[in-house]
Amino acid sequence: MKRIGILGGTFDPVHYGHIALAEDAVREANLDEVVMIPARIQPFKQDREYASGEDRFNMIALAAGKNDHVTVSRYELEQEGVSYTYLTLRHMQEFFGEDTRLFFITGTDSFLKIDTWRNAEELLTKYSYIIGTRPGYRQDEYREALQRITDTYGTEVISMHKTELDISATQIRELVAAGKPIDELVPPEVNRYIEEHGLYRV
Ligand code: ATP
Repeated sequence: MKRIGILGGTFDPVHYGHIALAEDAVREANLDEVVMIPARIQPFKQDREYASGEDRFNMIALAAGKNDHVTVSRYELEQEGVSYTYLTLRHMQEFFGEDTRLFFITGTDSFLKIDTWRNAEELLTKYSYIIGTRPGYRQDEYREALQRITDTYGTEVISMHKTELDISATQIRELVAAGKPIDELVPPEVNRYIEEHGLYRV
């Protein structure tokens, strides 16, 4: 059986926290591949500080470029309206086939809210999860959520014990807007892309 990881997010921009999450998941859960899927940002949410779908896609492609196990998909960017995770996962399951097991990869912050997502029951019964710790979460809160979810849905969850990287895209956008360096937070190719395209300057 093939094992595929799905890593969704806005990736505005992609950073070392995302890359480490994908690479750790490949290693710890023995995945064949991780597909990163940038979400479409709705037009009414578009603001000058945010990058277009095309720019976000290109930056992920640059960041994933050298890694054989990480790819990027345009699927959500090409959908009309809000792309709910359950629809994306249905599509991916169909695309990869029934002999593939899908693992949805998230940071602790996203996982804590997952049972409020659209069609949570389908999400938590049909797919497996890989959780990467991220600074700022409370261990007891995570344990409690994990217990509740596995008790209710019998979900398979792999909790990774990874090095926590205190990086967020918000922090990167703020640094760029303030004219400060971000070279320790994103790969050099992404840094160059942001500079050349004048992203996040506001
Ligand atoms: P923003 O600051 O704009 O909210 P973000 O840095 O949180 O963005 P997202 O695109 O929202 O990035 O994140 C996509 C996924 O990656 C989410 O599941 C999130 O939990 C996870 N993630 C983001 N940054 C990290 C990090 N530093 N460590 C572990 N997981 C992370």
